[in-house]
Amino acid sequence: MIHLILTACLVTQPGACGPILLPQGQADDMKSCQNGADRISRNWLSDHPELAGQATTCLPADKLPTLKLDQIAPGVFVHLGETRQLEDSDSGQIANLGVVVGDLSVAVIDAGVSRIQGQMLYAALRQITDKPISHLILTHMHPDHVLGASVFAEAGAQIWGHHALPNSLTFRQDRYLENLARLYSPQAMIGTRVVLPDHAVRDVAQIDLGGRVLSLIPARTAHTDNDLMVRDDREQVLFAGDLVFRDLTPVVDGSLTGWLDWHRLPPSPMPRLIVPGHGPVAQDWESAIGPQRAFLVALADATRAQIAAGKPMSAAVPQIAQDLAPFEPGWNAFAPTVARDATAAFKELEWE
Ligand SMILES: [Zn+2]
Repeated sequence: MIHLILTACLVTQPGACGPILLPQGQADDMKSCQNGADRISRNWLSDHPELAGQATTCLPADKLPTLKLDQIAPGVFVHLGETRQLEDSDSGQIANLGVVVGDLSVAVIDAGVSRIQGQMLYAALRQITDKPISHLILTHMHPDHVLGASVFAEAGAQIWGHHALPNSLTFRQDRYLENLARLYSPQAMIGTRVVLPDHAVRDVAQIDLGGRVLSLIPARTAHTDNDLMVRDDREQVLFAGDLVFRDLTPVVDGSLTGWLDWHRLPPSPMPRLIVPGHGPVAQDWESAIGPQRAFLVALADATRAQIAAGKPMSAAVPQIAQDLAPFEPGWNAFAPTVARDATAAFKELEWE
C-alpha cells in the first residue's frame, strides 16, 4: 500500500510546514498514488484555507513515521502514551490509544493530540492491516484524546462519542487549540481541527466489526461529563478512557462525587484486561482502580474537612494539597494536578 503525503505550510507563517497524510490518496502502487496526488491535494486544501500546499510525495507504509502499537490480545492493540501532563510533555502524545481489528473492519479508540499524532496512529495501523477503518470512538472531550480525529474521518470512519461530547468539546475547542499551539508550536499542530461525532451514544450501543462486537458504554458525569467506555466482547478488554488513570495523577474535570459513584459499580462481565486513559494496562479491576479511588476518596475527605471548618477556597486549596501529599509516591504530575483538583472539588462540594 502506498500513501500520499502533502507538505503544507501555514499561510500566516510560511516557514511553518508539516506533512499531511491524505488517506484519500492511498493506492495499490506508486503510479496510481502519483496520478491522484494533485487532484486530492487540491481538494483537501480547498477545505483548509489556513494552509498552502508545497509538494506531494508517495511513500510505502514502512517509510511513514508511526506510533508504537502493542498487541495486548488477539486483534487488540494499544499505544501507551507518556505518563505526563500536557505541560510536561514535548509532544502532547500522552494519551493511550487503541485499535481493534475485526474480520471486516477496524475500530480506532481515541485519535491523539494532533493531526500529526493521528497520522502516526493511522500509519501504525496500516502496517498491521489494510482493512477499512469503519469507526473512530472518542472516549471524551480532552484534547490529548480527540484532536487527531480528522485523518480517520477522511479515511471514512464514522465517529462515535458520548451524547454530551459535542456541546462540551465545541465550548472548549478554541481554548484547546490555542493552548496547544502555544505549548508545542503552530507547526506541531498543523492541519489539526476538531471533528465532532456522527453518532451520539446515550445508552449502551454496539458496533460490529465483522465477527467482533464492541459495546460502547456511556458514563454519568465523572472524569468529565462525556466519558465513554469501550468493551471488546470477544477478548473481554475494557477501554476505560480517563475514567481510569494509572501512574498519572487523576484529573477531576466533571464531578468528584460522580466519579466516586462510578467506582461503586464495577463492570459486568468483569473484563480480563483494562486499558486506562493513561498508564499501563491492568489485569484486574482492583489494580486498575484501587490507587485512583484511594486518591479521590482522600481528596473528597480533605475538601469536606476544609469546608466544614469554614475556610475560604484560597486557604483551603493549599491545605488540601498538603493533606494529600502522602499520596504523591507513584503519581506523576502530582503537585500541579492536586492544586487543580482541590479547586474543582471545593467548588463542587461547597454546595453539598
Ligand atoms: Zn481526560
